[in-house]
Amino acid sequence: MLLSRMFFHTSKEIPSDAEILSHKLMIRAGMIQKLASGIYNHLPLFQKSIKKVIKIVQEEMDGTGAQEVSLPFVLPASLWKESKRWLYYGKELLRFQDRHERDFCLGPTHEEVITDLVRREVNSYRQLPLILYQIQTKFRDEIRPRYGVMRAREFIMKDAYSFDIDEASASESYHNMYDTYFRIFNRCGLEFRAVEADTGSIGGSFSHEFMVIADTGEDLIISCDKCNYSANVEKAEIKLKEINNLFSERKEKKLMPTPDQKKAEEVAKFLNVCIKDIVKTLILETENGPIAAILRGDHELNIAKLKNVIGCNFLELAEEETIKKVTDAPQGFAGPVNLKIKIYADHEIKGMINFVTGGNIKDTHFINVNFERDFKIFKFADIRCAKTGDPCPRCSGILTESRGIEVGHIFKLGTKYSEALKANYLDKKGKEHLIVMGCYGIGIERIIASAIEQYHDEHGIIFPASVAPFHFIILPVNMENNEVKKTAEKIYDECKHKNLEVILDDRKSQAGVKFKDADLIGIPFRITVGIKSLRQGKVEIKERKTGKTEQVELSDILDRLLRIKNSFK
Ligand code: ATP
Ligand code: MG
Repeated sequence: MLLSRMFFHTSKEIPSDAEILSHKLMIRAGMIQKLASGIYNHLPLFQKSIKKVIKIVQEEMDGTGAQEVSLPFVLPASLWKESKRWLYYGKELLRFQDRHERDFCLGPTHEEVITDLVRREVNSYRQLPLILYQIQTKFRDEIRPRYGVMRAREFIMKDAYSFDIDEASASESYHNMYDTYFRIFNRCGLEFRAVEADTGSIGGSFSHEFMVIADTGEDLIISCDKCNYSANVEKAEIKLKEINNLFSERKEKKLMPTPDQKKAEEVAKFLNVCIKDIVKTLILETENGPIAAILRGDHELNIAKLKNVIGCNFLELAEEETIKKVTDAPQGFAGPVNLKIKIYADHEIKGMINFVTGGNIKDTHFINVNFERDFKIFKFADIRCAKTGDPCPRCSGILTESRGIEVGHIFKLGTKYSEALKANYLDKKGKEHLIVMGCYGIGIERIIASAIEQYHDEHGIIFPASVAPFHFIILPVNMENNEVKKTAEKIYDECKHKNLEVILDDRKSQAGVKFKDADLIGIPFRITVGIKSLRQGKVEIKERKTGKTEQVELSDILDRLLRIKNSFK
């Protein structure tokens, strides 16, 4: 490719909505252009990288025996109604009507469509196991599209679905995909980790996320410093503590004035007690009405865990109006005493006595509250977020927090969709069973954005060779000089002849501009053709990652580049 002909331009300007480095660099390197919030044009440089990632994914998926299909992007509501997700998926699902006023949506994920396809094609155990996948555009009307293509509304996903006769066979498919994901992300040059994860709106029983470790990641990962336990905070378990307060004295409950003291920290300070002696009460809304969750003052509620405990489809913190109705008091003074709704309590409440709670009256809190005596708990469960310093649930180690970008997610779905859509098969004896499913997603653009997030310096992107748009950039320092120009063009032609992925920066720009651009767009190796070296019959090769340079005889250059190319993973 001749750079002078390439459809792109680099720029120094950074749009105001670009918060993270990968977004800024992708804009500056002329890889993407915003069309609307969360919707991007892919320019040629980005498209080259996208194609490379897709090729890796296809090779690895095909290698495991998975078969590629292509499903529609516009999906009829009827299937989504069958699974009931039409009701529960929420506003991320972009819905619309056709000219006949029939409901449709843009596909955010394809469990329904693929299950429908399979239920119509598969009827015998002989056709299973089966893994189907596609690489296709998805649309999710994200509440906060940001970070460029990292959290877009329209994005490309590789989504795969496995179909098996039973749980044991489904586990094999799951592990097969788990291993395949390791190979894919390794080939993309990413530093990543597989962590246990919540199953969210996709549903199912078991799940892992593949996380690229990066400070700018939106996900919080909890990991043990001793064993290999690692989980998304939404899922990270809490080790149960021993309780030995059975014989401690229960003091008399008393209502105290706490004017304007709403937050646990404020109340603790005002009443001169430790925050660990406060029990905070949160009112939440479910599809079946409000419930309360109580937990220690310094702990944070884990909505994903609570949702699983309740077994509801919808769970959100209640609005002020509901809180007033349920507690008779404004927000900030809710407490479990005399509350008429179900109370879910975090396990750690079990170890607490004589604690402080909201008074359910404006500007008041109770002190010396004790459960059983003063209020009843509907259910104790692990409903708080793990944090740094907590003991590991698997060993004697301590948990620490780090941040990650989720590039892939695998789920054991069980029979959630086959049951809803009645996808069955007949066994050897002609008996009918539900197909056991799994689903497996990878964000294609997100892989590239994460690679940039992981590999860059103050000059720009440092692409891993496997996902770089090109491997080599030939940089003639001065195109006006005939010898320089001719030599650069000759190397370029030879490279092309050998099918090397190469760009020639044939622009008449100043050398400084060319050097800067080559660094910014992150091409792994630069071949500089300048007068000085040419006089000694040499050109310079510079590795973008290490900055190492070598002077190579003109007669050896092609061999050297071919050897470099063969050293790429
Ligand atoms: P997240 O928690 O980041 O929203 P998710 O759990 O909703 O992700 P999945 O439904 O598992 O994501 O989708 C599979 C993969 O698609 C994700 O692992 C991620 O790489 C990618 N992905 C999901 N949402 C987006 C998005 N808004 N923009 C770009 N890629 C995305
Ligand atoms: Mg999401």
